[in-house]
Amino acid sequence: MATLTFLGATGTVTGSKYLFEQEGSSFLLDCGLFQGLKELRLRNWNPLRVNLATLDAVVLTHAHIDHTGYLPRLVRQGYHKPVYCTEPTRDLLEIMLLDSAHLQEEDAKYANKKGFSKHKPALPLYDTADAKKAISLLKGIPYETEFEVAPGIRARFRDAGHILGSAFAIVSWTEKDRAKRIVFSGDLGRPGRPVLRDPRKIKAADYLLLESTYGDRLHGESDPQEELKKIILRAVEKKGAVLIPAFAVGRTQELLYTLRALESASRIPEIPVYVDSPMAIRATRLYLKHTQIYDKEANALLKGGEEVLLTKHTEFTESVEASKRINGQRGPCIIISASGMLTGGRILHHLIQRLPDSRNTVVFVGYQAEGTRGRALQNGRDNIKIHGRYIKAQASVETISDFSAHADYREIMEWLKYFGEAPRKTFIVHGEPDASSHLQNLIRNARGWETHIPVYEEKIVLD
Ligand SMILES: [Zn+2]
Repeated sequence: MATLTFLGATGTVTGSKYLFEQEGSSFLLDCGLFQGLKELRLRNWNPLRVNLATLDAVVLTHAHIDHTGYLPRLVRQGYHKPVYCTEPTRDLLEIMLLDSAHLQEEDAKYANKKGFSKHKPALPLYDTADAKKAISLLKGIPYETEFEVAPGIRARFRDAGHILGSAFAIVSWTEKDRAKRIVFSGDLGRPGRPVLRDPRKIKAADYLLLESTYGDRLHGESDPQEELKKIILRAVEKKGAVLIPAFAVGRTQELLYTLRALESASRIPEIPVYVDSPMAIRATRLYLKHTQIYDKEANALLKGGEEVLLTKHTEFTESVEASKRINGQRGPCIIISASGMLTGGRILHHLIQRLPDSRNTVVFVGYQAEGTRGRALQNGRDNIKIHGRYIKAQASVETISDFSAHADYREIMEWLKYFGEAPRKTFIVHGEPDASSHLQNLIRNARGWETHIPVYEEKIVLD
C-alpha cells in the first residue's frame, strides 16, 4: 500500500514537503523551507525523517522557496539523485537557490558578529556549494509529458497558473492491477491573471492534496490595473516618483505587464520604468524566454510583434552604478525594486532618497508581514529606521491588495468543479489552521467529499 507522510505545510503555508512511498520506491514531493515563526524555522535544522539512502527522487511543483528552499540542505545531508521539475522552474531555481544560499551565509555571518548563536562558529543551513550541487541535480521536464519518478511510479506536470513554471504534479502507480492516481496541487493560481494561462482542469484523482492559503478569504472586487493607473496619474501630477516594492518572481512581471498595458492604451503617459533588483531582472528575462507559458492575450501581443512586459522606457538597472544613477532621475518615474516587504535589498536606498519627499508615492502590491518596515509604513508610521538612522516618511503610501497569485476559496471551489467524481480522500494542506478548516467545511458542505487536515509528520495509508 502506498503511504504519504506530511513533513511540512501542515498548519502553515511554508515548508511544503510530502514523502510518498510505495513498494520500496519513494520520492519527496516539494522540498520547501520553513519560514516565518521561529518555532517553524527551527525545524529546518532538525534531521529530516526520510531515509536519504533509499529516496529515489524529488519532484517540485514550482520554484518558490517555501517549496524548494530545503533542497540544498537535503544535498548537504548526502542526497544526490534526480530532482524533477518543469523547465522554467529549473531555470528559476538556478537563480533562486543561489540567492537563498547567499542569505543563509549572511545570516550565519550576522550571528557570528553578534555572537547570538549556540554554535561557535555559527554555520549556515547550507552554502553556495550546496546550492550549486542541488542545481546540478535538476531535470527539466516539459508540461504534460509522462516520466518515471521511481520504479513503478510515473508523473506528469500540468500548468497550475501560479508563477512561471508552476505545475500540478499528477502521480500514478498500479496496486493489485488497479491504476491509482494522486494529484498534488502545489500552489493553485487564479484564472484571468496577466501573462500566465489559467490553472488547467483536473478531472479525476483517487487522492488530492489541496492548498488552502486563501481557504477563508476572498480577493477584492476591485481592478488592480485601474487602481494602479489612478495612483500613477496622481504621482505624475505631483511630478513625483512611484516606488513599488515587489517580490522578484511573479509580482514584478505582473506589474510590468500591467504597466505596459496601461501605457499602450494611453491610460498613463510614457514615463521611465526602472526594474532595480538583479533577481527580478533575471526572473523577468526568464519570463521573456519561456513564452510557452503565456496565455492567449500575451500570445497575441507576441504574434503581433509587440512587447509583452516592457513599456517604451523600461530599463533594467543590473549594476550598482546603474542603480545609483536612478537617484539623479527627477520628475515622474516608476521604480520597481525588492524586497517586497522592505526587509532588505535596493529598495531601501530608494526609500532613503525618496521617502522624505511628499511628491513621491510608495505602493504596496503584496502582503506585508507583522514586524516588517512595509507593515510599519502601511500602518501610517511617520518614520522608519534604515541602516541605523530614521527616515521621515512624507511620501504618500498606497496599497493595492488584489495582485495575489493564490486562488481564493471561491476560485478553489470553482476549480474543484472540474472533478467528475469525488476523490476518495482530499488532504487540505498549505494553510493557517483557520483557512484550512474553513475550506474543509466548504468542501464537505458543498460537495460532500471526504477530507482530512493532516498534522506535522502524520503518515497516512492511501488505501
Ligand atoms: Zn508559491
